[in-house]
Amino acid sequence: MEKVYYFDNNATTKPAPEVVKEMQPFLTDLYGNPSSMHFFGGQVQAHIAKARERMASLLGCFPEEIIYTSCGTESDSTAIYSALRSFPEKKHIVTTCVEHPAVLNLCKNLEKTGYRVTYLKVDENGMISLDELEQAVTKDTAVVSIMWANNETGVIFPVEEAAKIAHKKGALFHTDAVQAAGKIEMNLKETEIDMLSLSGHKLHAPKGIGVLYVKKGTMFMPFLAGGHQENGRRAGTENVPYIAALGKAAELAKENLSKENEYVLALRDRLEKGIISSIKNTRVNGAASPRLPNTSNISFEFVEGESILLFLSEKGICASSGSACTSGSLEPSHVLMSMKVPMTFAHGSVRFSLSVYNTQQEVDYVLKELPPIIERLREISPFAQGKPLFGMDACDKHHH
Ligand code: PLP
Repeated sequence: MEKVYYFDNNATTKPAPEVVKEMQPFLTDLYGNPSSMHFFGGQVQAHIAKARERMASLLGCFPEEIIYTSCGTESDSTAIYSALRSFPEKKHIVTTCVEHPAVLNLCKNLEKTGYRVTYLKVDENGMISLDELEQAVTKDTAVVSIMWANNETGVIFPVEEAAKIAHKKGALFHTDAVQAAGKIEMNLKETEIDMLSLSGHKLHAPKGIGVLYVKKGTMFMPFLAGGHQENGRRAGTENVPYIAALGKAAELAKENLSKENEYVLALRDRLEKGIISSIKNTRVNGAASPRLPNTSNISFEFVEGESILLFLSEKGICASSGSACTSGSLEPSHVLMSMKVPMTFAHGSVRFSLSVYNTQQEVDYVLKELPPIIERLREISPFAQGKPLFGMDACDKHHH
């Protein structure tokens, strides 16, 4: 395979070699069902317990607060449905305009079944307002769900303060921490966060395994009914290989978090500074807010994000567009629209998301290849020649 310059780590990450090694015995010799009474099953059960402890150590919580799920999306759905079923008389949800579709589309569906949803707006830096949150939460609010870090811009939300605000009005607090886990130091015991979702494939474990943290004492209603796995909170035979893998990934993340953050941040800043200094009319979205160290969302005026990605891909560089134009619509990303990024910029957005597997040599390769691509696209851009652009604010769209 030709060389891949992988800058799309918010989409998914490379499984760490140590993680792959950790899961292998469970695909060969240790195939027992952890629920079985015999020694063979019990052996496997012990590995699940070890993985749970490793995850609890990463999150700063108790092992029994960890529920394994199939993915981040399942964790998000489980958390929100659990809150709604725990407080059936409450018909209001508070979330933000910039959530991942795993929360946003669930909320849109819930609106059709009689729930009222408040979508908190963000400012031009991609930040929510805690005052607005305070005003939005009422006695009728069952759950407040606010992501810890945004997948497109990396902007970090003040979820610990948000949890306290939710509690003042008696609402549960859930956070989608899929992009934050393994990148932000967490000590959940010391927060008021009731529920937290994460996904293995964003922290160098395989796709198809997730975690839902539920704080001790929080009302909880299972999403999947069936067997007694996960203490009766998530039925279905455990995905033992991936649970072991995620345990190992959590251990590695815990050990290396600050060192890796420092390394990745230096690369990200080199990339960002290099792009801004060599290409005119660019902006870094969310740069004025606290951000994940690995994420850079950059808009290039008068060019289309998709075209940039195609040209980058030809050079072996994998990045992502900030926009969701895949369905053929020309609407830029709901996140950038909520931030009121001007349309001439919003269309030309590229997200570079790094990991510890990136190198300075790879960053320098992007810095060499990108400027001529933008220059070429600007030469042929109909936008640069004064064609009108149009679009809609993402929040307005949700309401209508
Ligand atoms: N939430 C956020 C913020 C994400 O970035 C993602 C993945 O892209 C998800 C949820 C969904 O996770 P999964 O793919 O494990 O369902």
